[in-house]
Formats: sequence, structure tokens, C-alpha cells
Amino acid sequence: MDVVESAWAGSPTAPEATLRVRELLTSVPSVGPTRAARVMAQLEIAESKRVGGLGIRQRKRLHDWLVRRENRPEVTPSRLVVLAGPTAVGKGTVSTFIRENYPDVHLSVSATTRSPRPGEVDGVNYIFVTDEEFDRLEKSGQMLETATVHNAFRYGTPRAPIDAALAEGKSVLLEIDLQGARSVRKAMPEAVLVFLLPPTWEELVRRLIGRGTEESAEQQRRLETAKVELAAQDEFDHKVVNEEVSQAAREVVDLMAIPSNT
Ligand code: 5GP
Repeated sequence: MDVVESAWAGSPTAPEATLRVRELLTSVPSVGPTRAARVMAQLEIAESKRVGGLGIRQRKRLHDWLVRRENRPEVTPSRLVVLAGPTAVGKGTVSTFIRENYPDVHLSVSATTRSPRPGEVDGVNYIFVTDEEFDRLEKSGQMLETATVHNAFRYGTPRAPIDAALAEGKSVLLEIDLQGARSVRKAMPEAVLVFLLPPTWEELVRRLIGRGTEESAEQQRRLETAKVELAAQDEFDHKVVNEEVSQAAREVVDLMAIPSNT
């Protein structure tokens, strides 16, 4: 704000006046080059324009945009984000993308009693345990939450790594089912709950069948679960549509106010 005011008050060759609008916008917190380009198009300001070279109407539009931006409430970074959503919506793909592209996010590794799928690595995708081991972890209070998913296997979130990451000031992402999200909300009310939506129901069915890792009775069971899960979306703080993985991941990570490296 101060920059544009002194640019327009002073000499046209002053440093503020020769600053490009694009540079001014990207100096605003959480505005990157893509966002800046979008804002400039919306304000009808050409890509190469400098602050001092703007016409009267462009100045007004830019001024108003900066005022709106300055006055908007502070976004408080969320430290614990729970990503849930219907089965096969792509939670796993989004969280894998986050693991690979946003190293500052601590992704919780769940324990499960199901067997590894091809390519899954113990300790990375899940901690694969027996029923007895799962019982032991649960009874000794080491789980933040546990749930039996699709009436089949047990899944749970180990508590210690999350506490440690939060204590270090890191942001933590939990990719769990709906029951788990509800349990976390009770245990940690400060957690932010994000619901991942498919672009359409048809797309969800296509993704579920397309994965081909489950036999048809299991697919049917998962479809039923997905219907019930979709109905719970309004319990969540935010909804993100998984149209495209990197975009969905970006939206989730934005809630943690993590700087981008993509
Ligand atoms: P999958 O077996 O396909 O990897 O996961 C099945 C479901 O279990 C997914 O909806 C996934 O989000 C959920 N899930 C994975 N880990 C946990 C966990 O620790 N707790 C809960 N409640 N659900 C989990």
C-alpha cells in the first residue's frame, strides 16, 4: 500500500514508480507468479506494466485490490490437518503427492492389519502389523485413533510421531477415514478437517472400479461405504475437489500455510 502511494505521489523515476506491478504483487504474502498473473488479468493491467505507468482507472483498481487484501482477516496456519473423503476419491494419491513435493509436511504413517499391496513399503505407506500387534498398540494407549474400515481391516494413527512433529513446530497431515476424522476432532479439537470430493459421483465410481485391486463383492461394499461417507461432507471445515492431484494437494497444503516448491 505504502509503495503504491509513494509511487503515485513522487517522481515517475523513483524506485517505487519503476517497480513492475508483477513484482509488487508477488511481494504480497502468499501471492506467487501464477496468482499475480491472474490478479493482473482481473485488474486489466498488462503483464509488463510498471506501478508509475498505470492509468487512473488501473491505479484505482490496484489500490482497491491492495486495500481489500490488507483488510482481510489473517489466515492462521493450521498445524494438524485431517484429510478424509470417500473411498477411492484419491486421498492416497494426494497425500503421496504431498509427501513427495512438500517435505515440510509431516505425513502420519498409519498402522494397519491389511496386507501390503504391490509397491507398498512397510514404514512408508503403512506400518503393517498383525492383529495381536495392533491390539497391543491400542491397549497401551499408543494410538490417537483407530477404526475398522470397510468392515474388514483395522487402521490406526500412532500418536507419538504426531506429538513429536507438532512439538518441533511442523505441520502434520493425517490421511484417514471418516470415523478416524471424527475421533481426531474429539481428541484434538484444534485439528482442521478437510473433505476430499470427487468431481462427480460417476467419476468416483470410475476411479473405484478402475483401480481393480479389489474383487467385485469388495468393490460393492466400498461403493456403499462411499455413499455414506459423501453424506458427511458438511461436518468438515473445508472441501477440496480432487479434479487434478497437484491442485488438490496445493489446496490442502495452503491450509497449513506451507511455502510452495512446485
Ligand atoms: P487402503 O486400505 O485403501 O489404503 O485404505 C482404506 C481406508 O482406510 C482409507 O479410507 C484410508 O483413508 C483409511 N485409513 C488409512 N489409515 C487410517 C488410519 O490410521 N485411521 C483411520 N481411521 N483410517 C485410516
